[in-house]
Amino acid sequence: MNFLILVLSTILSLFPQTKTTQKVEKKPRQAPNIILMIGDGMGHAQLSSALYYGKSEPNYVRFPIVGLSRTSASSHKITDSAAGATAFSCGVKTYNGAIGMAADTTAVETILEYLAQREWKTGLIATSSVTHATPASFYAHVPLRKQEFEIAEQYLQSKVDFLAGGGQRFFFNRLDEQNLYPEFSRKGIQLDTNGLNPYQWEGNKRYAYILAKDGMPPMHKGRGDFLPRATTMALDYFDQTAGDKPFFLMVEGSQIDWGGHANDGDYLVGEMLDFDAAIGAALDYAEKDGNTIVIVTADHECGGFAMVSEEVEVPFRGRQSDYDSLRFSFGSGGHSGAMVPVLAYGPGAEVFSGIYQNNSIHAKMMGLLK
Ligand SMILES: [Zn+2]
Repeated sequence: MNFLILVLSTILSLFPQTKTTQKVEKKPRQAPNIILMIGDGMGHAQLSSALYYGKSEPNYVRFPIVGLSRTSASSHKITDSAAGATAFSCGVKTYNGAIGMAADTTAVETILEYLAQREWKTGLIATSSVTHATPASFYAHVPLRKQEFEIAEQYLQSKVDFLAGGGQRFFFNRLDEQNLYPEFSRKGIQLDTNGLNPYQWEGNKRYAYILAKDGMPPMHKGRGDFLPRATTMALDYFDQTAGDKPFFLMVEGSQIDWGGHANDGDYLVGEMLDFDAAIGAALDYAEKDGNTIVIVTADHECGGFAMVSEEVEVPFRGRQSDYDSLRFSFGSGGHSGAMVPVLAYGPGAEVFSGIYQNNSIHAKMMGLLK
């Protein structure tokens, strides 16, 4: 018996590498990957809804760092998504409607453009059209958000490596009868208008999934797992093509806002749960990678949304609040001025705790590069 153990341990000692897990060694990156996730219209109640209406504990409870963002635009107390996203992308407070421009309509370099200049891989994913205010603010510069034809043309000139969302009507069979289809191959962009089909990723190619005429369908109309799956695909693309360079990815849950505008709680909650699934995909990646920061925030609250108690008739006592049954309540069909949450995980995440202006999020991200 002792002899057998001796033989076995001798054999094992000849193969010491079998005891350690195999890991592909990557060159160390000088800065962390940045994944910025924007829940459009996601105030605290929207975020909280996932606690009560999801099948399991939300992914966002995994974040160790929490902050509050003050959302006002330069022109108004209540911001729109253009000024909100431009604060993140360019670091400036600007007027409602501005895309990638300061309050005096001068174009400001976006964080995506700055990083692409330094050979970072970049990606944008949204459930709106890819030319909508939030994604557009990372690559386009126009004075008015509704210039989506112009924004589409600027995308082609941009350095966005991975793009996914809706918005076909701003590229093909346009109202101005222009068709940008031939420009995609001319710019080395692999275009897919059918679905999230994976490719043999090539580092010198750009990829664009433009999968709906306008915005992507809402969750309750069958969008399925587009957002978490596109997020996972983008991370896979970066993993295979970025080499020793970091990447910057923006993921937007665009339609939490649209559920708020529609005062439709089921719409809103479906979108919130889907956004949380994408958050889970990003966090899983970041935990495994060890040098990726994930920041989740919102541009503004929308709908004055709340989860309030149902009122019930109690015999002899009249109408009373039943604190164990929730119903949706809306105070507005538009945005509100409430502060919004900021959640952060990863190297340097501590700087996102506290209460600060929305454009500080840009400065904090830039600070991670040092
Ligand atoms: Zn909105």
